[in-house]
Amino acid sequence: MPRENRRGFFLMYGEAIKTLQDELVALVGIELARSVLFRFGWKNGQGCAKEMGLTGQGDTAIANLHEIWTEMGLARLVSLKSEGDAHTIRLEETLESSFEGRGCDFTRGFLAGLLSGITNKPHYCEEEKCTSRGDKMCVFAVQRKI
Ligand SMILES: [Zn+2]
Repeated sequence: MPRENRRGFFLMYGEAIKTLQDELVALVGIELARSVLFRFGWKNGQGCAKEMGLTGQGDTAIANLHEIWTEMGLARLVSLKSEGDAHTIRLEETLESSFEGRGCDFTRGFLAGLLSGITNKPHYCEEEKCTSRGDKMCVFAVQRKI
């Protein structure tokens, strides 16, 4: 197979995200570290959608997100509610939930990138609640960027 077509996946243990966050915070500070983790998550989510050939709009996009999410191991999906291009996603046990109040920036980016890749339209994500800050679960608002 030609080298440019040999793309694949590798598994990363959950603590690796924590290690990456710790190193980034030490090197560039918390604000820039959060941005880098979001962008890293976004690229990973978008790449997953592309590599797996997931495409669709509306309900099909959400069905694809739901299906792949259960296989990713980033968190347990509690609920997913959509109104047009706005989605509210509730997660428990995110990999980043024990990160001392820093939030789930990799997961936030992954969700936005995944929906961006599936729909081929850019999405952004805010984390409205987070277990690392004492909330009961992590709540993400994903919206299409206009
Ligand atoms: Zn969180």
